[in-house]
Amino acid sequence: MSYDALVISAHPDDAETQMGGTLALLSDKGQPILIVDLTNGEPTEFAEPGIRARQADEAARILGVERLSLGLQDRFLADTLETRLRVAQLIREHRPRWVYSTGEACVHPDHAVMGSIVRAATFLARLGQWERVPGGELLAQQEAWAIERLFFPHCKMEPAWGDFAFAVDVSTVYERKRQALAVYQSIFRPQNDRLLTLYEAEDQYYGRMLGTAYAEIYRSASPLLVEDPTVFLPTIHG
Ligand SMILES: [Zn+2]
Repeated sequence: MSYDALVISAHPDDAETQMGGTLALLSDKGQPILIVDLTNGEPTEFAEPGIRARQADEAARILGVERLSLGLQDRFLADTLETRLRVAQLIREHRPRWVYSTGEACVHPDHAVMGSIVRAATFLARLGQWERVPGGELLAQQEAWAIERLFFPHCKMEPAWGDFAFAVDVSTVYERKRQALAVYQSIFRPQNDRLLTLYEAEDQYYGRMLGTAYAEIYRSASPLLVEDPTVFLPTIHG
């Protein structure tokens, strides 16, 4: 199965938290999207093992995307050769044009390693000659694949970004993002969860900066290029 986009995250709920509104918009446009959670997200504060995985599937259904988990141990995620190769394999298997992953500066060690894992994996996925690399046998059986773009949504455990490459106006689908996050009752409280309140405040803050209700922001691994600079939406301060 090929997907237009892969969202590669440390934990079930990261993709929703960081870019749930964008995912709803893209899936509504017909983009097939796969979320890959590298860890199992266990243990959780409020539920027995296994519940979070079911909630993650429900959140993906609400957003209109698919999801799989590599099942690595939460809290122990590391930028190892094995993880890089496993992610590169997934990229070759699903041949996405766009890859999204968590940016590098983050207090959670699982989030902090995502950027280097995914930057390396997207690069390794496009290289050939793996049959000549001891340990590279798995990639030798797949065709090389070069993605078009690597984007990093803002991790909400980081301080706010003063500059970013672009923002997506997610105002029209924000209720879907709320619903997708609300199913994670293994990690969030059913009423007035403090983290969810802060997440929403961030999306409102960036929306306010740009003159809309809610926005999700992104950095890009490389400069953006357009044929037509009129594609950009107007913002409040021009
Ligand atoms: Zn996380």
